[in-house]
Amino acid sequence: KLQIVWPNVIIMIALHIATIVGYWQMVNGSAKRLSGVFFFLVAIMSSFGILAGAHRLWSHRAYRAKWPLRALLAALQTMALQNSIYEWSRDHRVHHRYSETDADPHNAKRGFFFAHMGWLLCRKHPDVQQKGKLVDMSDLWSDPIVRFQKQYYIPLVAIFWFVIPVSLPIYYLGETWQNSILLNCFRYVLSLQNTWLVNSLAHMKGYQPYDRHISPRENHTVTYLSLGEGYHNYHHTFPWDYSASELGWKDNFNPATAFIDFFAWIGWAYDRKTPSPTVVNMRMARTGGYSRLQCRLSLSSLSILLDFILGLLWITWPLWTANLLNYILY
Ligand SMILES: [Zn+2]
Ligand SMILES: [Zn+2]
Repeated sequence: KLQIVWPNVIIMIALHIATIVGYWQMVNGSAKRLSGVFFFLVAIMSSFGILAGAHRLWSHRAYRAKWPLRALLAALQTMALQNSIYEWSRDHRVHHRYSETDADPHNAKRGFFFAHMGWLLCRKHPDVQQKGKLVDMSDLWSDPIVRFQKQYYIPLVAIFWFVIPVSLPIYYLGETWQNSILLNCFRYVLSLQNTWLVNSLAHMKGYQPYDRHISPRENHTVTYLSLGEGYHNYHHTFPWDYSASELGWKDNFNPATAFIDFFAWIGWAYDRKTPSPTVVNMRMARTGGYSRLQCRLSLSSLSILLDFILGLLWITWPLWTANLLNYILY
């Protein structure tokens, strides 16, 4: 039986109201333009903590990272406030192993809203807890950075989710504390909504070129909004690929892969795993059943350019829509 957790519902409603008011402060010009840019960058950076950190590094071990990068990713992941790395990765491993069953924390068979955010507003299904205990988490527990973050999660959230992002615009940009708090809620809800789309929309709408027997799909909208995590049919087929997509960041929109490649370039990331094209093609022939062309995967250089432009327009929508509305209305 569904048990609603009312405190979570109230917090979520309050956060969304603050988000709308924060956005309106950008539209009416009360919040400074630079504050909008600052919080947009906080949203992007904290998302990298989730995508390149909790997801690709810790949940899937898709590459390895030296301690300075792990420390940076842990700080950014704390900034995103989506549970500690340990809990996030446990939920995510359960999601992959038991996709679309009662043990899947955001089982998409229970509808769009449940998979999107409803799962955070009610008690976990007993199967989630039961199967969650069976998942091997020893690799995460052996990482002192993960243990430290789990142990001091609440004070770390206070510092990285609240104090740092809220106080910097007050001190350096002369922003009011009210606007700073509202825009912090805005950047938080924005990155939450974008992450949730991977669990809802990318499990329902899109192409299945790699495995037509599973429900995760390739969804361009989700890819743009989630900074490269919408190649979800591929990701559930090859979860250990560090790019979470068949191609790298130069061939399709995938800023999270560019982030990892940058740190590989300076030597902080290494052992980036990816299957050979032969393995991918064989799998596509066996379980996919659609051609690349049918799934719009066959990209010309023009469509790659369009992909980048569309991606940039999608992720920066809060900034340009606020400015556009300000221009029209004020
Ligand atoms: Zn998934
Ligand atoms: Zn995954």
